[in-house]
Amino acid sequence: MKHHFRIALTFCILTLGLNASLSATKPTLLFDIKQHLSPHKSLREPADLNPFMLILHYNVGSLDSTIDWFQNDGGVSSHYIIGAQGEIVQFVSLKDKAWHAGLSEWDGLTGLNNYSIGIETENMGPLINDWNVYHEDNQESMANACEHFTPYTNALEETLIPFCQNIVKRYKIQDYNVLGHNDVSPGRKADPGPLFPWEKLHHAGVGAWFIPEELPYIKIPDKEDIRWVQNNLADYGYKINKDGNWGEKTRNVIQAFQMHFRPADASGRIDTETMSRLASLVKRYPKEKRQLAK
Ligand SMILES: [Zn+2]
Repeated sequence: MKHHFRIALTFCILTLGLNASLSATKPTLLFDIKQHLSPHKSLREPADLNPFMLILHYNVGSLDSTIDWFQNDGGVSSHYIIGAQGEIVQFVSLKDKAWHAGLSEWDGLTGLNNYSIGIETENMGPLINDWNVYHEDNQESMANACEHFTPYTNALEETLIPFCQNIVKRYKIQDYNVLGHNDVSPGRKADPGPLFPWEKLHHAGVGAWFIPEELPYIKIPDKEDIRWVQNNLADYGYKINKDGNWGEKTRNVIQAFQMHFRPADASGRIDTETMSRLASLVKRYPKEKRQLAK
């Protein structure tokens, strides 16, 4: 317990420092972080690299099963997991690379474990526990994706949001670099799923969101214009072939975008609402500025 107290105290001091510079009235946050250090880690390259991305996951399991998996089998890890009751467990120091994203790409960068902080959340994911059923041939189900995934608990969200706030402030992580695993591995991964509280996080200062008020006025081409869709998804950061063809790979990326920004319909089919939200995001977080900020 003594050890846990020391970690919590460190965070308290860090948070106090932040609050002093940002707002004198913000309450001090105290995170109780338990450590179960994982051997599944490596040095960042270069070793003093400061992570500038935050990647969110769900674990499809219990808190205990992930603690066991990350310490023993699997050869995978994350920096933290947030439990369904709001517990926080740390596996890997933020100085080191945790093994959470695997084959991944964003904004032209690959191997994102090197640049990111990875946070798992305790959540079972798809209710039928088989993402492939939705992914491969069930567009209709994904049109109502929210009905088919496990809700996040209030306790988890109540810890997740201030905890992510703390991390993005400390590491100066830009909104457009707060991502889901499926954003960086479309088709291969579905986590953290359509019920993840992206919009709430954005309103708490964590992560990107479109501007709802401007959507009706945004000019978009006909929805058959696949090149416009591919170019804008690529400009926003997604890995996509700009080949002018509607195909499985493009659908996977549209679906990943929808899971994050348009969860009410994550069918992978393009529509006016999806295109407007995409255009708003590209306008709000322009590619040129993002490249400069890196
Ligand atoms: Zn994941």
